Amino acid sequence: MAYNVVVCVKPVPDPKHYDKVTIDPVKKTITRAGIPTLVNPVDKSAIELALQLREYYGGGVAVVSMAPPNADEILREVLAMGADEAYLLSDRAFGGADTLATSYTLYHGIKKIEAAKGYAFDFVLCGSESADGATAQVSSQLGEWLGYPHLWNVYELEKTPGKDEAFSMKTKMENGYMEWAGRTPLVLGVAREIRKPRFISVMGIMKAKSKPLTVWGRGDLPAAEDTYLGLKGSPTQPGEIFSPDLKRSGELFTGTPEEIVGRVVTVLRANGVVVGG
Ligand SMILES: Cc1cc2nc3c(=O)[nH]c(=O)nc-3n(C[C@H](O)[C@H](O)[C@H](O)COP(=O)(O)OP(=O)(O)OC[C@H]3O[C@@H](n4cnc5c(N)ncnc54)[C@H](O)[C@@H]3O)c2cc1C
Repeated sequence: MAYNVVVCVKPVPDPKHYDKVTIDPVKKTITRAGIPTLVNPVDKSAIELALQLREYYGGGVAVVSMAPPNADEILREVLAMGADEAYLLSDRAFGGADTLATSYTLYHGIKKIEAAKGYAFDFVLCGSESADGATAQVSSQLGEWLGYPHLWNVYELEKTPGKDEAFSMKTKMENGYMEWAGRTPLVLGVAREIRKPRFISVMGIMKAKSKPLTVWGRGDLPAAEDTYLGLKGSPTQPGEIFSPDLKRSGELFTGTPEEIVGRVVTVLRANGVVVGG
């Protein structure tokens, strides 16, 4: 049996430029203008899993992202990795979305892709969490919108021999793992360990230029309701946002090691720190 997979991909700010990331004090959203973006790292592991499923069993790999228009560069990168086609959901109406509004928009995007293709996806893959928001909520919410079984932090996936739709999975826990059995369609938030992303080849970059990249705006998702979209459709709103006070006062201790240690212990005790001995 061949499997059709859609992977949700989030563009995130390049960590090298984190010092330039600011938060709009009124809208409480990230100001990304002029900051280069990357494919959310764990999303590449999800893409690798999708590509390997296609290589072993056949099927197709689509990617979908809800992001500003310049995310097309990110999507060309994942097309160069080997995905067959990409969909960008981009509209001011989607901006400022919290996790619920994000998963709702992705859900409608996925439904629209399925309607265009005439089949439902067997797997909807997400990363376990993004490198910027990192709420780790979107994959489970997407599972709920779609009405499919969903698992989070999946680091192993194996087909059950002789049963086309049956898979066994392992999810990471704090002190171990859990084993699961499930049937497609499945929504999985995958951990980095699931697969190591492949390098992008020159041939992949050349092929990506002619692969389909479709951009859909608000008007292309007529089944979505305004009340659930973007900032207005987001039930959670950050409260006060402030920059931490990074001012530090310092004192230089001199003397022999014993004198310095004695002085450090005195200062710590004076500040309420319990020091043994
Ligand atoms: C300062 C700040 C405050 C925030 N406050 C809130 C808040 O109060 N409430 C709230 O709900 N959210 C909040 N967020 C999260 C923010 O709204 C997110 O950008 C968005 O909702 C996605 O959530 P996430 O990045 O935490 O996704 P996660 O759940 O951590 O991401 C998991 C996976 O979901 C997929 N995914 C996530 N977003 C997208 C996307 N846009 N397109 C395609 N795939 C995607 C990717 O596969 C990703 O690996 C905040 C973010 C920041 C930076």
